[in-house]
Amino acid sequence: MLIEVNHPLILEKITRLRDINTPTPEFRALVTELGMLLTLYATDHLPLTPVEVKTPLMTTTGVSLEGGNPVVVSIMRAGNALLDGVLKSIPAADVGHIGLARDEETLQPLEYLVKLPILANRHVIVVDPMLATGNSANAALNSVSSFNPASTTLMCLVAAPEGLAKIQYHHPDIRIVTAAIDNKLNEKGYILPGLGDAGDRIYGTE
Ligand code: URA
Repeated sequence: MLIEVNHPLILEKITRLRDINTPTPEFRALVTELGMLLTLYATDHLPLTPVEVKTPLMTTTGVSLEGGNPVVVSIMRAGNALLDGVLKSIPAADVGHIGLARDEETLQPLEYLVKLPILANRHVIVVDPMLATGNSANAALNSVSSFNPASTTLMCLVAAPEGLAKIQYHHPDIRIVTAAIDNKLNEKGYILPGLGDAGDRIYGTE
Protein backbone atom coordinates (compact mmCIF):
# COMPACT_ATOMS: atom_id res chain seq x y z
CA MET A 1 0.00 0.00 0.00
CA LEU A 2 1.43 3.38 -1.04
CA ILE A 3 0.24 6.62 0.57
CA GLU A 4 1.55 9.82 -1.03
CA VAL A 5 0.54 12.48 1.43
CA ASN A 6 -0.84 15.52 -0.27
CA HIS A 7 -1.25 18.11 2.44
CA PRO A 8 -0.52 21.85 2.06
CA LEU A 9 1.59 22.11 5.23
CA ILE A 10 3.65 19.08 4.24
CA LEU A 11 4.15 20.20 0.63
CA GLU A 12 5.33 23.64 1.75
CA LYS A 13 7.87 22.11 4.14
CA ILE A 14 9.13 19.74 1.44
CA THR A 15 9.66 22.75 -0.85
CA ARG A 16 11.83 24.44 1.79
CA LEU A 17 13.80 21.20 2.22
CA ARG A 18 14.49 21.11 -1.51
CA ASP A 19 15.83 24.70 -1.49
CA ILE A 20 19.64 24.68 -1.68
CA ASN A 21 19.67 27.87 0.44
CA THR A 22 17.89 26.34 3.44
CA PRO A 23 20.49 26.30 6.25
CA THR A 24 21.23 23.19 8.34
CA PRO A 25 19.32 24.16 11.53
CA GLU A 26 16.16 24.95 9.54
CA PHE A 27 16.59 21.83 7.41
CA ARG A 28 16.92 19.62 10.50
CA ALA A 29 13.92 21.24 12.18
CA LEU A 30 11.81 20.76 9.02
CA VAL A 31 12.65 17.05 8.85
CA THR A 32 11.58 16.67 12.48
CA GLU A 33 8.34 18.63 11.89
CA LEU A 34 7.59 16.42 8.88
CA GLY A 35 8.23 13.30 10.96
CA MET A 36 5.69 14.54 13.47
CA LEU A 37 3.07 15.24 10.79
CA LEU A 38 3.64 12.06 8.77
CA THR A 39 3.18 10.01 11.94
CA LEU A 40 -0.56 10.65 11.64
CA TYR A 41 -0.58 8.90 8.25
CA ALA A 42 1.83 6.16 9.34
CA THR A 43 -0.41 5.19 12.25
CA ASP A 44 -3.93 5.60 10.88
CA HIS A 45 -4.34 1.82 10.59
CA LEU A 46 -3.54 1.05 14.24
CA PRO A 47 -6.26 -1.00 15.92
CA LEU A 48 -7.98 0.43 18.99
CA THR A 49 -9.47 -1.16 22.09
CA PRO A 50 -12.35 0.54 23.89
CA VAL A 51 -11.52 1.62 27.44
CA GLU A 52 -13.56 3.20 30.16
CA VAL A 53 -12.39 6.64 31.26
CA LYS A 54 -13.64 8.71 34.17
CA THR A 55 -13.88 12.43 33.43
CA PRO A 56 -14.40 14.85 36.33
CA LEU A 57 -18.13 14.61 35.47
CA MET A 58 -18.90 11.04 34.44
CA THR A 59 -17.62 7.80 33.03
CA THR A 60 -17.37 7.49 29.26
CA THR A 61 -15.77 5.24 26.65
CA GLY A 62 -12.43 6.11 25.08
CA VAL A 63 -9.77 4.09 23.30
CA SER A 64 -6.30 2.72 23.85
CA LEU A 65 -3.87 1.44 21.23
CA GLU A 66 -4.36 -2.31 20.96
CA GLY A 67 -1.01 -3.98 21.65
CA GLY A 68 0.51 -0.77 23.03
CA ASN A 69 2.66 1.85 21.36
CA PRO A 70 4.33 1.21 18.01
CA VAL A 71 8.05 0.68 17.56
CA VAL A 72 10.02 3.20 15.52
CA VAL A 73 13.13 1.97 13.72
CA SER A 74 15.51 4.60 12.39
CA ILE A 75 17.74 3.85 9.43
CA MET A 76 20.78 5.87 10.40
CA ARG A 77 21.92 8.34 10.12
CA ALA A 78 19.38 10.51 8.30
CA GLY A 79 16.47 8.59 9.85
CA ASN A 80 17.31 10.01 13.26
CA ALA A 81 15.89 13.46 12.48
CA LEU A 82 12.63 11.88 11.31
CA LEU A 83 12.66 9.67 14.42
CA ASP A 84 12.78 12.81 16.60
CA GLY A 85 9.56 13.95 14.93
CA VAL A 86 7.81 10.60 15.37
CA LEU A 87 8.75 10.65 19.06
CA LYS A 88 7.13 14.07 19.46
CA SER A 89 3.87 12.43 18.33
CA ILE A 90 4.41 9.12 20.17
CA PRO A 91 6.74 9.89 23.10
CA ALA A 92 6.30 6.41 24.58
CA ALA A 93 7.26 4.52 21.41
CA ASP A 94 10.03 1.96 21.65
CA VAL A 95 12.99 2.74 19.40
CA GLY A 96 15.34 0.65 17.29
CA HIS A 97 18.32 1.65 15.17
CA ILE A 98 19.72 0.11 12.02
CA GLY A 99 23.02 1.59 10.88
CA LEU A 100 23.54 1.39 7.14
CA ALA A 101 26.16 3.27 5.18
CA ARG A 102 25.97 3.45 1.41
CA ASP A 103 28.95 2.15 -0.58
CA GLU A 104 29.21 5.00 -3.09
CA GLU A 105 30.67 2.66 -5.76
CA THR A 106 28.16 -0.19 -5.65
CA LEU A 107 25.31 1.78 -4.00
CA GLN A 108 24.86 -1.30 -1.78
CA PRO A 109 24.18 -0.83 1.97
CA LEU A 110 26.86 -1.77 4.50
CA GLU A 111 25.29 -2.72 7.85
CA TYR A 112 27.27 -1.46 10.86
CA LEU A 113 24.66 -1.59 13.66
CA VAL A 114 21.40 -3.40 14.44
CA LYS A 115 19.81 -2.62 17.83
CA LEU A 116 16.14 -3.51 17.95
CA PRO A 117 13.56 -3.89 20.71
CA ILE A 118 11.10 -6.81 20.54
CA LEU A 119 9.25 -6.50 17.23
CA ALA A 120 7.11 -9.66 17.16
CA ASN A 121 3.41 -8.74 16.89
CA ARG A 122 4.18 -5.01 17.26
CA HIS A 123 3.34 -2.26 14.79
CA VAL A 124 6.62 -0.98 13.39
CA ILE A 125 7.40 2.31 11.63
CA VAL A 126 10.73 2.31 9.77
CA VAL A 127 11.96 5.84 9.07
CA ASP A 128 14.36 7.03 6.36
CA PRO A 129 13.93 10.41 4.66
CA MET A 130 15.08 9.28 1.21
CA LEU A 131 13.86 6.17 -0.63
CA ALA A 132 16.32 6.21 -3.54
CA THR A 133 17.54 2.87 -4.96
CA GLY A 134 15.62 1.14 -2.17
CA ASN A 135 18.69 -0.93 -1.24
CA SER A 136 19.00 0.41 2.33
CA ALA A 137 15.27 0.29 3.01
CA ASN A 138 15.11 -3.22 1.58
CA ALA A 139 17.96 -4.39 3.84
CA ALA A 140 16.35 -2.77 6.89
CA LEU A 141 12.93 -4.22 6.05
CA ASN A 142 14.49 -7.68 5.65
CA SER A 143 15.79 -7.41 9.23
CA VAL A 144 12.51 -6.05 10.60
CA SER A 145 10.31 -8.60 8.76
CA SER A 146 12.33 -11.52 10.13
CA PHE A 147 10.83 -10.71 13.59
CA ASN A 148 7.21 -11.00 12.37
CA PRO A 149 5.79 -7.62 13.32
CA ALA A 150 2.01 -7.10 13.25
CA SER A 151 2.48 -4.44 10.56
CA THR A 152 5.35 -2.50 9.04
CA THR A 153 5.17 1.01 7.64
CA LEU A 154 8.07 2.70 5.84
CA MET A 155 7.98 6.47 6.34
CA CYS A 156 10.01 8.63 3.98
CA LEU A 157 9.99 12.21 2.75
CA VAL A 158 11.01 11.78 -0.88
CA ALA A 159 10.73 8.54 -2.86
CA ALA A 160 12.08 7.65 -6.31
CA PRO A 161 10.02 5.36 -8.56
CA GLU A 162 12.98 2.92 -8.64
CA GLY A 163 13.02 2.58 -4.85
CA LEU A 164 9.27 2.30 -4.61
CA ALA A 165 9.26 -0.49 -7.21
CA LYS A 166 11.97 -2.39 -5.33
CA ILE A 167 10.18 -2.21 -1.98
CA GLN A 168 6.79 -3.03 -3.46
CA TYR A 169 8.34 -6.07 -5.19
CA HIS A 170 10.29 -7.44 -2.19
CA HIS A 171 7.88 -6.35 0.56
CA PRO A 172 4.39 -6.22 -0.99
CA ASP A 173 2.74 -6.30 2.44
CA ILE A 174 4.32 -3.17 3.90
CA ARG A 175 2.74 0.26 3.92
CA ILE A 176 4.77 3.13 2.43
CA VAL A 177 4.02 6.69 3.52
CA THR A 178 5.86 9.40 1.59
CA ALA A 179 5.49 13.16 1.27
CA ALA A 180 6.65 13.22 -2.37
CA ILE A 181 7.32 10.91 -5.29
CA ASP A 182 10.04 12.38 -7.50
CA ASN A 183 11.07 11.76 -11.12
CA LYS A 184 14.04 9.39 -11.12
CA LEU A 185 17.57 8.67 -9.87
CA ASN A 186 20.71 10.14 -11.38
CA GLU A 187 23.75 7.96 -12.22
CA LYS A 188 25.04 8.33 -8.63
CA GLY A 189 21.75 7.16 -7.10
CA TYR A 190 20.57 10.62 -6.02
CA ILE A 191 16.90 11.46 -6.36
CA LEU A 192 15.94 14.08 -8.97
CA PRO A 193 14.87 16.76 -8.26
CA GLY A 194 15.27 15.55 -4.65
CA LEU A 195 16.90 17.60 -1.95
CA GLY A 196 20.52 16.44 -2.08
CA ASP A 197 22.14 14.26 0.56
CA ALA A 198 19.70 14.30 3.46
CA GLY A 199 22.26 13.18 6.07
CA ASP A 200 24.74 15.88 5.03
CA ARG A 201 22.07 18.56 5.04
CA ILE A 202 20.67 17.47 8.44
CA TYR A 203 24.07 17.36 10.11
CA GLY A 204 26.02 19.96 8.12
CA THR A 205 28.59 17.47 6.82
CA GLU A 206 30.03 17.15 3.33
N1 URA B 1 20.15 9.61 -0.15
C1 URA B 1 20.04 10.95 -0.03
O1 URA B 1 20.27 11.50 1.04
N2 URA B 1 19.66 11.67 -1.11
C2 URA B 1 19.39 11.11 -2.30
O2 URA B 1 19.01 11.82 -3.23
C3 URA B 1 19.51 9.70 -2.40
C4 URA B 1 19.90 8.98 -1.32
